[in-house]
Amino acid sequence: MKKPAIIVPEGVKEVLLHACCAPCSSAIVEWMLNNGVRPTIFYYNPNIFPREEYEIRKNESKRHAESLGIDWIDGDYDHESWQQCVCGLEGEPERGRRCEQCFLMRMKAAAKQAKSLGVKYFATTLASSRWKSLEQIERAGREAERLVGDVCFWAQNWRKGGLYERRNQLLKEFNFYNQQYCGCEFSKQQREAYEEAKNLKQSL
Ligand code: SF4
Repeated sequence: MKKPAIIVPEGVKEVLLHACCAPCSSAIVEWMLNNGVRPTIFYYNPNIFPREEYEIRKNESKRHAESLGIDWIDGDYDHESWQQCVCGLEGEPERGRRCEQCFLMRMKAAAKQAKSLGVKYFATTLASSRWKSLEQIERAGREAERLVGDVCFWAQNWRKGGLYERRNQLLKEFNFYNQQYCGCEFSKQQREAYEEAKNLKQSL
């Protein structure tokens, strides 16, 4: 028999779901609710820059949770701490060492939040993006699990089981804000440089 694309850890009925944004959360939350798992959304993304962009993404996540009647927790926005966390790695490419530190900071906060709520499992919507390394995300989740203790990381490829396609449908249905770069100032600069080069090529 074919193995299901998504496997709920045995006995799990609730999970602390770290959400990077509303679009990436949408299909995962829907799948969990349809499969007997109650998510509590934890919005913790101090990597996002500038603050205005952070507020837009945060409010979209909150709107999503409220529309479904699920709990939503607002993590702190401490961009300075995030900058310290990735200090010396500013010039790294996406999927490089800066991203790994960025994931670890967010996974540690998610693990602590889960523990404080008495929720055994935590997961992240970061693992739904084709732009990110699943290996890096899993390493960060496992390390957070080890450092915090008494919590478990639900390592899962959330692009599978038709969820990637469903995400794109829900993006339209909810009319979510769809960000154009990963989040930090470095990814923003990379995106802008890419757009500039593309426009220049088209104008030649
Ligand atoms: S590119 Fe994305 S994952 Fe990588 S450091 Fe920036 S915000 Fe974090």
